[in-house]
Amino acid sequence: MTNSFYPPRRTLMGPGPSDVSPRVLGALSRPTIGHLDPLFVQLMDEIKELLQYAFQTDNELTLPVSAPGSAGMEACFVNLVSPGDKVIVCQNGVFGGRMKENVERCGATAVMVEDNWGEPVGIDKVATAFEQHPDAAILAFVHAETSTGVRSDAAALCALATEHNALSIVDTVTSLGGIEVKVDDWGADAVYSGTQKCLSCVPGIAPVTFSERAVARINDRSHKVQSWFLDMQLVMGYWGGSSKRAYHHTAPVNDLYALHESLLMLQEEGLEAAHRRHRHNHQALVAGLGAMGLAMAVAPEYRLPQLNSVLIPEGVDDGLVRSALLQEFDLEIGAGLGALAGKTWRIGLMGYASNERNVITCLNALEAVLARQGAPITTGAALDAAQAVFRG
Ligand SMILES: *Cc1c(COP(=O)(O)O)cnc(C)c1O
Repeated sequence: MTNSFYPPRRTLMGPGPSDVSPRVLGALSRPTIGHLDPLFVQLMDEIKELLQYAFQTDNELTLPVSAPGSAGMEACFVNLVSPGDKVIVCQNGVFGGRMKENVERCGATAVMVEDNWGEPVGIDKVATAFEQHPDAAILAFVHAETSTGVRSDAAALCALATEHNALSIVDTVTSLGGIEVKVDDWGADAVYSGTQKCLSCVPGIAPVTFSERAVARINDRSHKVQSWFLDMQLVMGYWGGSSKRAYHHTAPVNDLYALHESLLMLQEEGLEAAHRRHRHNHQALVAGLGAMGLAMAVAPEYRLPQLNSVLIPEGVDDGLVRSALLQEFDLEIGAGLGALAGKTWRIGLMGYASNERNVITCLNALEAVLARQGAPITTGAALDAAQAVFRG
């Protein structure tokens, strides 16, 4: 006999999905209505406006793609990249590698600018790449590299693209809601995100926004977009500004209730307050980890407050620690990826999960598990150090 599935109540402090707000889970269970119902169309308009606020943009073409963050990435590439184009792709972690895959599958050439995992994208290297490839049509980079916990300078990178007459594609899957994302101020052209990191929402939706320059490029295409589902010209017929909406696909109605609720929460809190909260909880976590004797993997000036890469102490069994946290404390943290596999843990403090209780829970649980393993840590100091930040 197969029974209904009742998941345990975990604390999600990995690289995403992160804890979903109960308000958002509540919205998810409201009655499903038709995706062309006039009330749903009204909801779509509100989502668009709330997304414009989250992205800090006036871009008309701002909407949630009905699929996860990776589909947001793909939507930006397949619509803007044409066969034969040259695209400068920055890689300083996992996700830059996926951008390269996207470029090549569009029949274009990727000019790679590589930086060490754990370091930001090198602005000078990108400038050099533009000098060597003045015909580059697009610059693509990841603002917040979730695989390492590093923030790159999006404003400077977008400015370089504009200066060289190229469009920019920016991954803000982990940044949106957690740190400053200013699409219009940056002059970014195609920006995508996800719902399950700092938006406190369920996975499966990808907010995207396209500048006027990007829309012009899409309208000028001589080749059809290779993906029917992600072709923005078709999607615009459903999500577009006019009151007449044509069926393209069935929107994930309840997921969009959830997104609407989570974006409303972000607007109620205010972007700056949300960023401040992420920063504050990050500082408390880092103080606690430091007092325990654990070191961070990323230099302070590039650290993401929402994704904390911690160096695993010598002789500690990575897998054993993570499974003990999960089994005994219902606490999920992330493993290191690629070059950092087995060397780091990734502790997320994203969206709704970025709170004082989670910081304390994580420090307590980690200390208990590490002490039992005989790891070289200082016990009994982490909570005071975190509390000093919270009360300070
Ligand atoms: C999580 C993530 C993605 C992919 O999002 P999915 O929803 O898993 O498809 C892309 N880029 C970055 C930086 C991410 O953190």
